[in-house]
Amino acid sequence: MIKRGKSTQHRCSFCGRSEQEVMILVSGMDGQICELCTEKAQEIIDQELRKAGVNPDRTDESAPKSQKYSGPLHLIPPRELKTFLDQYVIGQDTAKKVLSVAVYNHYKRLQQASKSASDDVEIEKSNVLFVGQTGTGKTLMAKSIAKLLNVPFTIVDATVFTEAGYVGEDVESILSRLLQVCDYDVEAAERGIVYIDEIDKIARKQDNPSITRDVSGEGVQQGMLKMLEGAEVQVPPQGGRKHPEQKLVKVNTQNILFICGGAFDGIEKIIARRVNTQVIGYNKKEVERVDKENLLQYITHQDVKNFGIIPELVGRLPIVVHLEALDIEALRRILTEPRNALLRQYEKLFAYEGIELVLEPGAVDFIAEKALDYKLGARGLRSLCEAILTDAMFELPTGVKGAKDSKKQFVIDRAYAEAKLERSHIGRLKAA
Ligand code: ADP
Repeated sequence: MIKRGKSTQHRCSFCGRSEQEVMILVSGMDGQICELCTEKAQEIIDQELRKAGVNPDRTDESAPKSQKYSGPLHLIPPRELKTFLDQYVIGQDTAKKVLSVAVYNHYKRLQQASKSASDDVEIEKSNVLFVGQTGTGKTLMAKSIAKLLNVPFTIVDATVFTEAGYVGEDVESILSRLLQVCDYDVEAAERGIVYIDEIDKIARKQDNPSITRDVSGEGVQQGMLKMLEGAEVQVPPQGGRKHPEQKLVKVNTQNILFICGGAFDGIEKIIARRVNTQVIGYNKKEVERVDKENLLQYITHQDVKNFGIIPELVGRLPIVVHLEALDIEALRRILTEPRNALLRQYEKLFAYEGIELVLEPGAVDFIAEKALDYKLGARGLRSLCEAILTDAMFELPTGVKGAKDSKKQFVIDRAYAEAKLERSHIGRLKAA
């Protein structure tokens, strides 16, 4: 019962204040409590919960719970994680292995944190940095692993953020996206995975004449530090800029796995310089062993720092792994092998029309060769397929015959693919 006013002589049984001295007095069986003591009691409860390793904010039953990400987290051994990735990602064995171990350790740490809060040995967060050309599978790898773990996952582009106070988005809105994908279930978001793309684009400008502030580069890196390390972050639920009227949501990033990725154009030069200077003068034989064609494999934190990522941020990305450039063979396999392979998708689309789509090996080779020419990695494969297949997809549903049409089969050979590409706008693109 809540009483207001001066009608009775009740006092708070905890602090002794009279009804006149307080705003609200709640009556129980044998006593009363005022609003001031209720607040105090809540503080004590929160403190005790924290000591017991329970986040007091989580005791709110009314907090949204996402059905999609409910249930315990299953610890999957690295070997199984990699086998799963193999179904979706072609090649990139080193990166798959490193990511599998990082993800396993990350979630193992998460499980242990909830078991023993008093353990002295604290396993640190293992955020990952992917370095590799565009279209080599960086995003795909992060996306696939999140799918397997059934945790919230989001992709954000580092280039949209600027230092607070400037046009752009606050770094904290990285977490808004994560909250959005799990219907604002903070608990689910707190064990999610965030992929931050184009991290190389916020590198410190090497020869910034400093007339203008570097608000989208180093400023953003500074903003990311706390979040990547693990902290309580006030997140604007709708993203964008934080503003005073907006109610902020508190998210703890301690158990969020951050995977950053970037092409780091030109980092090979930095690696080359380091590899050469390091080796010359020490052991000449080493120089011969360096594979100059694929310098990315020697990447270290030092190179990332020299590229323009501030040392503090580099330190919060303890795992650096490179992705290899895709060769013809890999591109060919990407077209046909993954579970969700591009050609399988087109086959399915044709099958809806009752037509069997057959791409002869020559046509597959042709698409892979062209994708290599355009230097878009596997990203180019889709636009090439579209250019080659659009006419057929336009005509076939109304019964007009295609290149080689036998019964309900539509066969594409190299000549057909070449001819269609020649006439399309992307066929006119000159290879870079
Ligand atoms: P990025 O490295 O630029 O993040 P993505 O992972 O977004 O590249 O790749 C773009 C598309 O290319 C993906 O959707 C996927 O279909 C394909 N792809 C890229 N690399 C691979 C790979 N190694 N194996 C299978 N598919 C790939």
